[in-house]
Amino acid sequence: MSLKIYISGKLYDKADAKISVYDHGLLYGDGVFEGIRAYSGRVFRLTKHVERLYESARSIHLEIPISQEAMAKAIVDTVAVNGLSDAYVRAVVTRGSGSLGLDPRKTTDPQIIIIADAISLYPAELYEHGLKIITAGTQRNHPSALNPRIKSLNYLNNIMAKIEGTNAGCLEALMLNHKGEVAECTGDNIFIVRRGELLTPGIDAGILEGITRDAVIELARAAGITVVERSMDRHDIYTADECFLTGTAAEVIPVVECDGRSIGLGKPGPVTLDLLRRFHTLVREEK
Ligand code: PMP
Repeated sequence: MSLKIYISGKLYDKADAKISVYDHGLLYGDGVFEGIRAYSGRVFRLTKHVERLYESARSIHLEIPISQEAMAKAIVDTVAVNGLSDAYVRAVVTRGSGSLGLDPRKTTDPQIIIIADAISLYPAELYEHGLKIITAGTQRNHPSALNPRIKSLNYLNNIMAKIEGTNAGCLEALMLNHKGEVAECTGDNIFIVRRGELLTPGIDAGILEGITRDAVIELARAAGITVVERSMDRHDIYTADECFLTGTAAEVIPVVECDGRSIGLGKPGPVTLDLLRRFHTLVREEK
């Protein structure tokens, strides 16, 4: 059976799911999106994802033509209609099609696209042995240029860093902010464990407020671990006892090397593995 894709209220077979080449989402990256997971048919933290989508849209002055409740229902229905139990969902809202100029006022018909597909994970051995990362030369977007809190369709900043990572044989790359502090990776937030405490850059470092990041902070606090959000530099990463990344697709993935320095014992640490286990329980059990 062909995958059914939702576009602005209708379902299309994958091969027929198309939008205009004049859409500013394509022409300028003018739009917003979310990456969401369903576990055993239940969408994890759906309300949070929908809220973040609408906040991103509000920030770029894009009015989404349906309510948050209708968006949430469309996401759930798209997973269900495709008979998926574990799925990755991509929800996209574009500015719509218009003239070739930048002016969003000349666009009409913002498009809502929902794709629910099978999830493709990092290879299992990376969860066992950990990832190697490098620091990209490409800085994370300056918050007063394009705020990283906006999950916009303009991902070139992250893509440039990703290319640096893959050219160096790494699946993820660390991005620093305009002050040279640790921000996040190209598609994941970053944490370290230092002397029993969990540390992660704060929102003011210029990062996406990851929904997995929030969940992991809650899990750690519930387990009695002190969590500190503070500015971090690369020295913090190099000298950490443990390091891991969080993201909807990656969940919690250990990092064992950064810029050629082995982190901690050079293998996934106990706090990381414990949080990964707790996260797996949470996504299956949370109502
Ligand atoms: N940072 C960036 C740049 C991302 O693209 C993502 C993935 N959406 C994350 C962090 C992690 O966010 P979340 O846990 O909400 O998936």
